[in-house]
Amino acid sequence: MFDPVQHLQKGDGLLIIDVQWDFCPGGLLPVPEGDRIIPVVNKWTEAALKNDIPVYFSRDWHPIAHISFKERGGDWPPHCIQDTDGAQFHPNLYMDRRILVITKGVRFDQDQNSVFDQTGFGHQLDHDGVKRLWVGGLAQDVCVLKSVLDARSSGLDVGVIREATRPIKEESGRRAIEEMIKAGATII
Ligand SMILES: [Zn+2]
Repeated sequence: MFDPVQHLQKGDGLLIIDVQWDFCPGGLLPVPEGDRIIPVVNKWTEAALKNDIPVYFSRDWHPIAHISFKERGGDWPPHCIQDTDGAQFHPNLYMDRRILVITKGVRFDQDQNSVFDQTGFGHQLDHDGVKRLWVGGLAQDVCVLKSVLDARSSGLDVGVIREATRPIKEESGRRAIEEMIKAGATII
């Protein structure tokens, strides 16, 4: 395991995407081994907070019968429905009041796979002076991919923490890594 402290410097931020019950084994839209990332994520979170690096946790937070669900013609089984147990952050995830939570997926008319999509997150990163974003979370081939691509488009340096993310499908996970590298992200 990489030592996060070696990587973290002033101007960095840590973004951990959607480490919620429903995306872990036993949840409604489980990512294989999704919970295995938690010890790595916790190590990064604690190191970042100790070094005054801002930490952001996003959560998928859908209305009942969201447009992204199969019953409405979307791609996914129902998941992360607002205020349900499945929508909570995984209980083993290290939490701290300094962590900013970003809520996405609340729109009735569309999905928001990227943490940057209409959340104002880019504005917050500017405010916090973040120039480089370290990214982990779920799922590697969906929300992590889309968020990393948006981060790169907005001119941020991006490091993806390989051990802190897992894909829904192995093959699309591999493609996601290739796409992120092509977009200029560093994979560690
Ligand atoms: Zn969702």
